[in-house]
Amino acid sequence: MAAASSLSLHNWSQALPLRRNRFPRVENHTKFTRLRTIRAGGEVLKEDIIVVGAGISGLATSLSLHRLGMKSLVLEQAESLRTGGTSLTLFKNGWQVLDEMGIGDDLRPHFLEIQGMIVKSSGGKELRSFRFKDEDKSQEVRPVERRVLLETFESHLPPATIRFSSEVSSINKTRNGETLLELVDGTRVSAKIVIGCDGIRSPVARWLGFSKPNYVGHVAIRGLAYYPDGHTLQPNVTYVYGRGSRAGYVPVSPTKVYWFLCFNSPSPGPRITDPSVLKEQSRQMTMDWPIDLQDIINHTPDDMIIRTPLVDRWLWPSISPPASSGSVVVVGDAWHPMTPNLGQGACCALEDSLVLAGKLAGAVSGSIKEALRSYERERWARIFPLTVRANLVGAVLQLENPMVCALRDNVLLKMVRLGPMLEHTNFKFEPLKRS
Ligand SMILES: Cc1cc2nc3c(=O)[nH]c(=O)nc-3n(C[C@H](O)[C@H](O)[C@H](O)COP(=O)(O)OP(=O)(O)OC[C@H]3O[C@@H](n4cnc5c(N)ncnc54)[C@H](O)[C@@H]3O)c2cc1C
Repeated sequence: MAAASSLSLHNWSQALPLRRNRFPRVENHTKFTRLRTIRAGGEVLKEDIIVVGAGISGLATSLSLHRLGMKSLVLEQAESLRTGGTSLTLFKNGWQVLDEMGIGDDLRPHFLEIQGMIVKSSGGKELRSFRFKDEDKSQEVRPVERRVLLETFESHLPPATIRFSSEVSSINKTRNGETLLELVDGTRVSAKIVIGCDGIRSPVARWLGFSKPNYVGHVAIRGLAYYPDGHTLQPNVTYVYGRGSRAGYVPVSPTKVYWFLCFNSPSPGPRITDPSVLKEQSRQMTMDWPIDLQDIINHTPDDMIIRTPLVDRWLWPSISPPASSGSVVVVGDAWHPMTPNLGQGACCALEDSLVLAGKLAGAVSGSIKEALRSYERERWARIFPLTVRANLVGAVLQLENPMVCALRDNVLLKMVRLGPMLEHTNFKFEPLKRS
């Protein structure tokens, strides 16, 4: 087990856990039940700030806090950084945040800057093309491999910031206002602030009262193809619009190409991880589509292909629970899973991290609760419309009716201007400043 920072015996007389239930809903978390014993052999840690989850949100939050001189411990359920998940595309808002965190220039040399976008019909006919900088000179579109992004975050964090094999199994409030986390291995951790960055199945979000994200009716298969001798693609993203299905591919580096296929499915279906099944399904579904795609699928290593049913959660005002309760808060997919149709899930997670760290740093001598509420107010106004918009864009792109698809591809697409479509990548933020 990796050593954690600030290991110390915890004074349990001051920290009586309220419930022993696994992730009780928020309305129940004020009831008291005294713990009889501390599980034998279990470590007890006391921390100021715990981040749950070492994905993009968790590591970005921890790094932003670190830049502001605030220490945090990241608890990750996996044994090491989750390096699967192929690649994702970051727009200028994502890159600006990475620059603010001081890692943008570490990443840029590894990944191609994408110049433009080409939309094709499933028969291979070019329907429309755009150059990003023609629409917005400040736009920066670059895919990043998730593995490299996470490793870069980790390399900028102080040693032992991440505690692996640390799955949070229960959350409780204590009498002194702290939060008590219990890990699957029996360790207990008491923290003044808990930041849930634990993804779409977030235990922290469940504890705050959020429902499960909603399946939106499409499944994505995505992969990262590898061409040891280099590929010949131009640095553009190519989309192929079919009926009830669509695909896309973009070169990530001189040797790697990210691709995805998204298709309608009435249910999320069984969990399929067998790469040969996923490749075969992708080949079958795109058999008559432009030849590049088949070749790219064929160049995908077995450990670089995954299937994901797409989900989101709309944060309806007055209906959705607040993003925080006391000093527990959620960030990224744990709070606002969104469909990938605008390429904004990770970009927004990075934005959340920066804003939250700034609010917490500003609250050192003030109220943590108010800082978290301020974070929620600021971020909700950005997140809610984007989640809805991403969902609606997906619905249009997944249309099946041949007449409606013909109208979409031959009339609507010709009228669209990309600049206004990408206005959501304009993001103004307070620089990270030590208070
Ligand atoms: C098909 C697809 C394509 C996408 N493309 C893009 C794109 O191009 N651009 C973009 O910006 N976004 C994109 N996204 C969205 C992006 O991937 C997510 O928004 C982003 O990865 C969210 O990161 P996260 O850290 O919030 O969650 P996650 O990456 O899910 O990380 C959560 C972490 O928490 C850990 N964890 C969970 N439970 C526990 C527990 N109980 N205890 C301890 N640890 C725990 C997990 O192991 C994991 O490491 C895409 C998403 C999909 C599905």
